Amino acid sequence: MRRRTVLLAAPGLLAAGRAPAAPAPGDLPRERVAPGGVARLALGPDAARPRAWLDDAPLLVTGSPAGWTALVGLALKQTPGAVRVRVQMPGSGTEQQRTLDVQPHRYAEQRLKVAPGQVDLSPENAARAQREREHIAGLIAQFSEPAPATLRMRVPTPGPRSSSFGLRRIFNGQPRSPHSGMDIAAATGTPVLAPLAGRVIDTGDYFFSGHAVWLDHGAGLLSLLCHLSAIDVQPGDVVPAGAPVAKVGATGRVTGPHLHWGVCLNQAMVDPALFLADAANDPPRQ
Ligand code: ZN
Repeated sequence: MRRRTVLLAAPGLLAAGRAPAAPAPGDLPRERVAPGGVARLALGPDAARPRAWLDDAPLLVTGSPAGWTALVGLALKQTPGAVRVRVQMPGSGTEQQRTLDVQPHRYAEQRLKVAPGQVDLSPENAARAQREREHIAGLIAQFSEPAPATLRMRVPTPGPRSSSFGLRRIFNGQPRSPHSGMDIAAATGTPVLAPLAGRVIDTGDYFFSGHAVWLDHGAGLLSLLCHLSAIDVQPGDVVPAGAPVAKVGATGRVTGPHLHWGVCLNQAMVDPALFLADAANDPPRQ
């Protein structure tokens, strides 16, 4: 009965703005303070969850009143050097300016051959790609509550994982945007599972991504699953970690069937490998 009493007290804690569950330190993403990486910024104790921002983007803050951590997603286009983070500590009513020292990280180059129309876009396709960029910018600006209970993700489909995040890509001899996710080789039709619990916020057919699903994990952390042959969920669906959401395919700009998995944190595409338990897919230091 004593334990039951404690459980019943939990909604009161939620009402006071406390964390319902604090992820264990091992559940946090591994840190890489470099473009495309994630910084773990210790904020110290406070009675209520602090708020923090990189530029205007709110940050995911996790932990408990005993100690909070802001996770800072660093975009691939982030210039190395000092980066300022603004922090509000509601318990003490103080505001802090913190500085991250972003290290340079030189990602390797990758040369790919695709259909010419997927590199030199027709005016119609260029307009479509621009509309889709704007739509996606709106999606990734969402910041929902609550923050995820854990940040340890699972690989969304079995198969060989490439360490291709961040590669500077040359399509048909022309430089294009760097690779902003993890590619997992798998046959068309292989189930794609939610890497973390979340809510489906978008499904669609995109010029570059093909059939794609966006999952909102909370507090500005999202997953993008691309090049699908089938989508088995709808916007608004809430899925637990490991739930089947789609099937692997070869739609969009691809060289063959595979899953492209992107992770977005505070509007920056970061390396999904940092959210996995093993470090097998971290790019080699150069
Ligand atoms: Zn990819």
